[in-house]
Amino acid sequence: MTFTITVGGATITQITEVARWPFPPRDMFPAVTAEDVARTAEEFGPGSVDAATGDLVLAIHAYLVRLGGTTVVVDAGNGNHKERPNLLPHHRFDTDFLDRFALTGTAVEDVDIVVSTHLHPDHCGWNTRLDGDRWRPTFTEATYVFGRAELENTQALAASAPAEGAVADLARTYDDSVRPVLESSRWEVADDGHLLAEHGDTRLMLRAAPGHTGGHVVVEIQSPDGGAVLSGDVVHHPVQLLNPELTQAGDADPALARRTRDALLERCAREGLLMLPSHFPADHAFTVDRDGDAFRLSPADGARP
Ligand SMILES: [Zn+2]
Repeated sequence: MTFTITVGGATITQITEVARWPFPPRDMFPAVTAEDVARTAEEFGPGSVDAATGDLVLAIHAYLVRLGGTTVVVDAGNGNHKERPNLLPHHRFDTDFLDRFALTGTAVEDVDIVVSTHLHPDHCGWNTRLDGDRWRPTFTEATYVFGRAELENTQALAASAPAEGAVADLARTYDDSVRPVLESSRWEVADDGHLLAEHGDTRLMLRAAPGHTGGHVVVEIQSPDGGAVLSGDVVHHPVQLLNPELTQAGDADPALARRTRDALLERCAREGLLMLPSHFPADHAFTVDRDGDAFRLSPADGARP
């Protein structure tokens, strides 16, 4: 699945790495109820919940943003051949993502900037690809931009990671998807408000959105004609619109993640920002409306190719 939309002077293309990435509901959201899942299927359609297994269906998307002469990749997916023995949903992918990337008409060498909302395996995996027995940067001409807190936190975690368990695989992610970039690419760290690109009256900016990880950021597109947010893992699945209290199993700071989620959904609703999450099983952007304590989603007009 894929789509392209225009926001101000920017063109955003979704590139799907995995269209269907199912999880047992409580693995993803420990407090989710059967009623939450049933309402989600009703509200968001059968694509959001597997009718046979009851699993929540997620996807993995990267986004390509073109603004003026600048080409930006936001969240480079899970990547192929990565060893994640403790995080099996991320283990040893072998997809045709790079072929589908090429179908956008942009070569990997044309990418100027690569940004990760955070450094979990499914958001920075294609930062690198296997070349013989070495991990090398995929986007050879790009500057890789890391949130300062996210990079520092991940380096600290990798330096003291145990040999087993999820944290061991986060350290593996650092070793195969971040360290090779630091060693052989242009890179920089950035903070809240960092301007990635600007053309005419359209701006592409990093904004802090902590909670899922301490250094999580989102990428905002701002223009007088409207805006959008590439929201990473601030929200993982539509069930969290119906029940915004649901903590995702990987949230580092659940209370902060909740405040960030509420604040972003509220801004999308109030300011009419389009939301483009990393994991919603959909080939379109969303508009968000408040509905009491919850939120509603609608496909954005013109989002389909
Ligand atoms: Zn994710």
